Amino acid sequence: MPRKLVLVVVDGMTPAAFERAVESGRAPGLAFLAEHGDYRKATSVFPSLTPVCLTSIATGAGPGVHHIPSLVWWHRQERRIVEYGSSFAALRAAGLSQSLVDTIFNMNERHLSKAATTVYEALEDAGLVAGAVNITCYRGRHRYLPALPGLHRAVHGPRRFFFYGLFESDRTGAPFAVRSRRAGSIDAYAAAVGRWLVTRDGFDFLTYYLSGYDFASHAAGPHGEAAERALEQTDAAIRTLLDSAGGPDQFLERYAVVLLSDHGQTPVREAARLQEPFADLVEQVVVTASNRAGQVYLQPGARIESAELAERLDGFPAVDVSLRLEGGDVVARREGADGPAEKLEHPDVAWRARSALANPNAGELLVSAAEGWELADLGGRHHAGGGSHGSLVAGDSYVPVVTVGLGTEIRRITDVAPAILAHFGVAAPESMEALARVG
Ligand SMILES: [Zn+2]
Repeated sequence: MPRKLVLVVVDGMTPAAFERAVESGRAPGLAFLAEHGDYRKATSVFPSLTPVCLTSIATGAGPGVHHIPSLVWWHRQERRIVEYGSSFAALRAAGLSQSLVDTIFNMNERHLSKAATTVYEALEDAGLVAGAVNITCYRGRHRYLPALPGLHRAVHGPRRFFFYGLFESDRTGAPFAVRSRRAGSIDAYAAAVGRWLVTRDGFDFLTYYLSGYDFASHAAGPHGEAAERALEQTDAAIRTLLDSAGGPDQFLERYAVVLLSDHGQTPVREAARLQEPFADLVEQVVVTASNRAGQVYLQPGARIESAELAERLDGFPAVDVSLRLEGGDVVARREGADGPAEKLEHPDVAWRARSALANPNAGELLVSAAEGWELADLGGRHHAGGGSHGSLVAGDSYVPVVTVGLGTEIRRITDVAPAILAHFGVAAPESMEALARVG
């Protein structure tokens, strides 16, 4: 029997932040894993935004297969905006109760494609016990009702399932997660649950998701002291897990480890509204934007084509490149000229562009922001003066990956799920797009 496995996902950690933390001695937990494992960089998906990335990690598939297109998108069948939490103002602008239902229930129960298989589903179908702590892509085979009174909709998660205290497969005594995000209460909740699970050795596979670092890096920028302090807190949550096995060495005797982030972050100086260049087309298009990615959706009966939409962004300083499909080919428009996406210098750009455009929930035109720029969300919020992500540029797209005791190399975040299945000797379903398979 192979070692059990823990997948640690640190939201928004760049390779540079990881390397600084390990080399400075400020993150002894990360340093221990790096010292005992293999370190490399991998690429994220496009848009490099958390719901898209975490779903890609958990399903081993890009957005073209799993169908989660962005943090905010236009639901063509229901003719409404879906907003997963760009900011509180954006949630309110999209309708607070609908947005919470979309984020907590619909993302997994409705929006995530039935044709995609999660790593939890694949492992539990093979008779193993899977667990998930706080990760937004959690779909499994077990039915859960919310722990809060007044909520009656069920979701489906793995056998060990903990979601911000809202869904809990077991009573662990962990403090409620959302008391004070700024003070790190969410990762403290994850750590308390993680301690409970490792102490009991209560799983074969566990996803342990930590979001505090990304939050701090948005506010202060990815290169500042505040972000480094936040990574120390993240490291403490990782050390809690290691210590729960009796110490780091004992932890690695019991578990193989995959540690990575979902996307990077880059500094943001200015913000723009992507709606502006399309202001006279309100009856023909819907524009959605958040962080460093945006989409333009053509409405039924629109008299304008996606090529004209792309041309409207010529000279708009917040936009680096737009992507669209023409006759099945991906067309990238940049600096006023069309060209093939693979000519762009961005990491793994051809596959990322094609997968994003293959998503039936994506807009006809996808927008990747220029370095230093952010696209304001539905509530007008942005992180100018701090950090953000979502685009195709290298800083948003590369993630650090440490593997301990894993036989497979991870080059894209979509390689994680099939690599974990291979570790347990479980065949990867067709929906998983392992690099080895698609080339
Ligand atoms: Zn983020």
